[in-house]
Amino acid sequence: MISISSIREYMFCPRKFYLRYNLDEKDEENVFLNKAIKQIRIDVYDLIQRNIRGLKVEMSLMDIKDHLKRTIKDVLESSLNILKERYQISEDEVDRIKVEIINETCFMVDILSLKSSKAMQTLESDGHKIAEMFFPTSMYSYLIKDENLEIIGSCDKIEIVDGRYYPINIKNSNPPIAGVWDSDAIELVANAMLIEQEFDSEVFVGFIDYVKICERRPVIMDSKLRKGLFKVLHEIKEIMEEDIVPETKSDPRKCGVCFYKELCHGDEEDYV
Ligand code: SF4
Repeated sequence: MISISSIREYMFCPRKFYLRYNLDEKDEENVFLNKAIKQIRIDVYDLIQRNIRGLKVEMSLMDIKDHLKRTIKDVLESSLNILKERYQISEDEVDRIKVEIINETCFMVDILSLKSSKAMQTLESDGHKIAEMFFPTSMYSYLIKDENLEIIGSCDKIEIVDGRYYPINIKNSNPPIAGVWDSDAIELVANAMLIEQEFDSEVFVGFIDYVKICERRPVIMDSKLRKGLFKVLHEIKEIMEEDIVPETKSDPRKCGVCFYKELCHGDEEDYV
């Protein structure tokens, strides 16, 4: 069974996947920490969406902003305290995560306040109607396991509109100039195919939410992308079952932040 987090790691760097799989099971802890941080982000965004339901058409833009931010600080503080205790991370690291999430949240609140204000005035409706329009019925972090595909993993969010399922993955990485990163598309098509098996419903399109720029970008689930996923699954199996060692690909952008940079690059200047 191949997890979607393994697909993500393989797409970041096949060598990194190989090293973690074969050498360092302790790095699993980082995977769980990253998942926990992502869950905090999802909870905060969900809270903003719920706050939209309480908006009134007569509210000023400032009132709307204040309302959307309601209780976010408390939720964030308590979630980060739990994170700190569970994963024994330093105060500095907690502060860094907090600042990052607060910056993203403020940006999102600014944009959603403008959109909500405009939508309420145009439609002469309160927040609960606008929320339905902006945010369809959704399931969060829905875990699916499929024996035929031999994949297990959870999708950050699945939106359901008119009986159709739309997988959404939330990314806080920098987006490309246009479209989505290949790695994000491969991860999303894995989610889409799991959804198809689970709900017996074809998925034609999914989305990546790049939260840093508050932008949703579509990914068409075409045959080329599906074939790309099967190729990746085959290569991951080769590493897991036949101990094939992938080549080291030097990419200062990725290697510079990688746990294994010393192993791959030793004292090479570009990677110290
Ligand atoms: S240091 Fe670079 S090549 Fe080595 S595992 Fe990390 S990302 Fe891959």
